[in-house]
Amino acid sequence: SLTAGVVAVQGDVEEHADAIERAARARGRDVDVREIRTAGIVPDCDLLAMPGGESTTISRLVHGEGIAPEIRAHVEANKPLLATCAGLIVASSDAGDDRVDELGVLGATVERNAFGRQKDSFEAPLSVDGLADDEPYPAVFIRAPAIAEVGDAEVLASWDGRPVAVRDGPVVGTSFHPELTPDSRIHGLTFFETDAASVPALEKSP
Ligand code: GLN
Repeated sequence: SLTAGVVAVQGDVEEHADAIERAARARGRDVDVREIRTAGIVPDCDLLAMPGGESTTISRLVHGEGIAPEIRAHVEANKPLLATCAGLIVASSDAGDDRVDELGVLGATVERNAFGRQKDSFEAPLSVDGLADDEPYPAVFIRAPAIAEVGDAEVLASWDGRPVAVRDGPVVGTSFHPELTPDSRIHGLTFFETDAASVPALEKSP
């Protein structure tokens, strides 16, 4: 079975674990989800999620615990990473904030809390490139970052004229929270429907 890791230093961890399990189950795959709070677990993981929460806190903890270089090595090995909201901010190449030490695994810059006060939190139906069917994706935004400049990444979805989902090789980043809806298509797209990433193929039954 596959081993999935959810960076669990802070943020909505259970919800990501759930969404990964749903996406795997929909494909007849077994997945063992592990929470990552210390160094030494990421190297065993086939796929990773880095949740939303508070980006300055997540940044401090992944660097402080020695998890940051392991996440970089994971991406360099072409294994998939889904980075959502605060996770996207930490994964980016520039977050425009000294308190965030970016991992630089996703070729895009972000702007924290970019969607304005009156729209602190909202849901939007997104059209996302590469989803399994044409149904709009119900995207939940909570004090969401905008993607400011897209470098190496490709835009998968935009809202209000700004990119809100991008892919850079094995890394998918979203401004919104795909773990907070029953729709696991973003997890499916990141982890199971990609040529770039190296999720081991379904093993033949013994
Ligand atoms: N506003 C948060 C930050 O900048 C991100 C919000 C979220 O992850 N829901 O870190």
